[in-house]
Amino acid sequence: MAEHFKTTCCYCGVGCGVIVQKQSNGALVVQGDKEHPVNRGMLCSKGMNLHYTVMDKTDRLLYPEMRYHKQMPKKRVSWDTALERAARVFKAIIEKYGPKSVAFYASGQCLTEEYYVVNKLVKGFIGCNNIDTNSRLCMSSAVAAYKMSLGEDSVPICYDDIEKTDLIFVAGANPAWCHPIIWRRVEAAKANNPALKIIVSDPRKTQTCQLADVHLQIHPGTDITLHHALSRILIEKGEIDLPFITQHTEGFSALAAKVMQRSITEAAQICGISKEDIYEAADLIARSKGLLTMWTMGLNQSVRGVDKNVSLINLNLITGRIGKPGCGPFSLTGQPNAMGGREVGAWPISCQRIDCFQVRKTGWRCKSSGMGKKFRSTQASLLRKCSMRWRREI
Ligand code: SF4
Repeated sequence: MAEHFKTTCCYCGVGCGVIVQKQSNGALVVQGDKEHPVNRGMLCSKGMNLHYTVMDKTDRLLYPEMRYHKQMPKKRVSWDTALERAARVFKAIIEKYGPKSVAFYASGQCLTEEYYVVNKLVKGFIGCNNIDTNSRLCMSSAVAAYKMSLGEDSVPICYDDIEKTDLIFVAGANPAWCHPIIWRRVEAAKANNPALKIIVSDPRKTQTCQLADVHLQIHPGTDITLHHALSRILIEKGEIDLPFITQHTEGFSALAAKVMQRSITEAAQICGISKEDIYEAADLIARSKGLLTMWTMGLNQSVRGVDKNVSLINLNLITGRIGKPGCGPFSLTGQPNAMGGREVGAWPISCQRIDCFQVRKTGWRCKSSGMGKKFRSTQASLLRKCSMRWRREI
């Protein structure tokens, strides 16, 4: 009789549910979990091949190995021996050079509890701040932009918003290849609802563009100019949500002044597209009820990554398309639990208190980190209390 285990694919940030079957001969079989709200039974080629990776033990370290210098061959040792040696080496280095002489790097594949423990080890026991995670390489632009725009490092949407929206704006990403399970949901949503429109901005003609109603084939690096041009058109045509802006945001007049500095004709020249295309995209935004803005490394991996993120999130803010079904900024992530690392403060720019996880969950004011802000834990409180901010200097 085969045993069944429900788990989550460990590869990417989509978080697909999988069911692993262990056959009586020990062989593993993997299938998508039909009851899982993310993938509803689907898996991409990486997820479908998880069991081959797990069963292939040729490159897997199954027990501790150790050597006393690089010329010696590695030998199998007990866990106690390996851990005691590792602790001795750390202790000797810290005693000689101080706690800042050691550093840790944690994977985006770690569970939040694992991040918590290593963060506690580094900050609580060793006494330094030298812990970093994959968040810095992957999502730091989006994180900084979320904090600047919304006051919190949090993605204010859920996957069900895909079926609820009538407009998706994909900025500089190719989810048809890189987030295929999400894109299959978008394809299905569009097939079921022809009113769902898709705008893609990308210098390349990707497979994602094939589903687009409007493809803005902009020059690389001109995203902010495009987003500002769209903002300008929406403001000039009055297609913004002034009650929302007044009640929930600050800095709108500064943004409006900024986007008015460049004409749509100039923006079109800089972006390398026609101004009619920009007007058409703005018209789609104006006519829709929802707006999901999707992006990933095309905006994040840039020296202007934060500004690009902020200028895109501003489209959600000026139209009030955030915090409602089918609306909001939807950053697509590459690693499964980068957020877990940030939630426990496991990178140097996070709160340095080892109990900051508790601070976040309870909403207590953090006295020692110097951040001086009240952390908020829910989207509802974020929209009710948080002063939304605009990036003023773009
Ligand atoms: S989309 Fe990501 S989480 Fe889903 S099966 Fe593929 S690699 Fe795994």
